[in-house]
Amino acid sequence: MSPDAVIVGTGPNGLAAGVTLARAGLSVELYEAAPAIGGGLRTESLFDSDVVHDICSAVHPMAVASPFFKAFELTARNVELLHSPASYAHPLTDGVAAIAYRDLVTTCTGLGPDGPRWQRLMEPLLEHSDAVVELLLSGPGTLPRDLAAPLLLARRILAHGTRLHARQFATPQARALLTGVAAHSVGPLPSLAAGTVAMLLGHLAHGGGWPVPRGGSSTIAAAMADDITVHGGILHTGCMISDLRELPPAKAILLDISPAALSRITAGRLPRQYQRALARFRYGPGAAKADFLLSEPVPWTDPNIGQATTVHLGGTRTQILRSENATAAGMLTEEPFVLVVDPAVADPGRARPHKRPLWAYAHVPNGDTTDPVELITARIEKYAPGFRSTVIAQRGISAAQYEAYNPNYVGGDISTGAVTLRQSLFRPVPRMSPHRVPLPGVYLCSAATPPGPGVHGMSGYRAALEALRREFGIRRPPLLGVDSAAPGTPRSPQPRRTTSAPTFW
Ligand SMILES: Cc1cc2nc3c(=O)[nH]c(=O)nc-3n(C[C@H](O)[C@H](O)[C@H](O)COP(=O)(O)OP(=O)(O)OC[C@H]3O[C@@H](n4cnc5c(N)ncnc54)[C@H](O)[C@@H]3O)c2cc1C
Repeated sequence: MSPDAVIVGTGPNGLAAGVTLARAGLSVELYEAAPAIGGGLRTESLFDSDVVHDICSAVHPMAVASPFFKAFELTARNVELLHSPASYAHPLTDGVAAIAYRDLVTTCTGLGPDGPRWQRLMEPLLEHSDAVVELLLSGPGTLPRDLAAPLLLARRILAHGTRLHARQFATPQARALLTGVAAHSVGPLPSLAAGTVAMLLGHLAHGGGWPVPRGGSSTIAAAMADDITVHGGILHTGCMISDLRELPPAKAILLDISPAALSRITAGRLPRQYQRALARFRYGPGAAKADFLLSEPVPWTDPNIGQATTVHLGGTRTQILRSENATAAGMLTEEPFVLVVDPAVADPGRARPHKRPLWAYAHVPNGDTTDPVELITARIEKYAPGFRSTVIAQRGISAAQYEAYNPNYVGGDISTGAVTLRQSLFRPVPRMSPHRVPLPGVYLCSAATPPGPGVHGMSGYRAALEALRREFGIRRPPLLGVDSAAPGTPRSPQPRRTTSAPTFW
């Protein structure tokens, strides 16, 4: 029997769409190219069977804050989100680091003369955090529930996302600390889009936090997949879909894929105007990642850095601007912005005696083929002399290889599309209903649609709600919580998953 809905891709957005549709009582089948589900939520042992490494995402401020994951009750499903005392740290070359503790007061104390400014920046956002998150993760076109949120954001984004940002702080520590968060947008700085990212992630560091899941990011994907199968859904892995005609007939097709793949998979059937708009979609710089197995913790010059799971290596604000703008212009710099994650700081169970995983990626030009291990090692060594001698094993993934690993990372762009103001408002094309593809029943639900990159599930959730409304006449969002199986939901006694021969790897 044909399913009601099929989904291509099982990243957090494909899975969120699957959960939503299955919870609405529809029969759902998901098709994943890779041998394992999860997209950006995969965790594997790389060097030692006892130690696991997150292959893509590792730190989950958005999974805590996202309205989808709140409704899904992520933490009631065997997913334990663990926090380190500091959300993130930012060493500077004088050996002292700026540190964003989860506790705002401790952070402000550490920032000295900029403490009161940091407090004035973050405290109002924290007071209105639910509304701020809802506004930024619901995508354009959503009316704010709390008018304070857009006003607070607008003032701050203008101050920190434009050239005015140079005047906001007096010390290099506070300047670098916020610019490091803005650099998560992976693109030219300053920009309004990067300012928005800085406000969202920056305030969450002192609120819901920047946690890691106990045991790795794949636990989030597993919880979602379990919910889908318990509600009758079927997941197929090892199935690369190259043409929509390979899918079984279904009333709704949701695609957790890139706009470039959308053009290919629809094989000339898109209206010309939409196809032209899609061709204007731009991809951002790439990420190139190194995974390490260490014999001991990173020997940071400032030992306080060891309290943070996430560390930003970019130097001063001016240095970050220089390297990010060069990278965005297509130049590989010797000192790129590097994000380091030491998951065992928050989740000590990830480490074994004298074996500790470390995850780090550098921003590089889109499509770059350089193995980043040496670049990243040198960058860490600068702030942690002796790091090199702690490395037991290592491996690099260039930006180009990331695309081979996951076709959504076009040229290694892990955001599935540049995070610019235009592409934050209109993603992937200017359209009232950004998830709808102008083909009957077809929806795009990946990070290439609002609200953009990150593990929040909101692109998949919103696309699924729209499909429910338009294709099935279901207007009421289904309940997603642990004890809230929708009435009439088909429940299969055993989770069902199938695996076909891998075609992708
Ligand atoms: C190195 C790295 C670090 C990151 N760190 C973080 C982090 O710490 N926190 C955070 O929130 N985010 C992080 N991200 C970003 C985050 O992983 C992504 O934004 C998120 O996974 C996007 O979800 P998605 O569902 O849109 O797509 P993806 O997670 O990319 O999943 C898409 C899935 O679809 C499959 N697919 C694509 N095309 C086809 C096809 N034609 N047929 C079948 N299957 C197909 C792919 O194989 C993949 O499994 C990181 C990403 C990377 C790469």
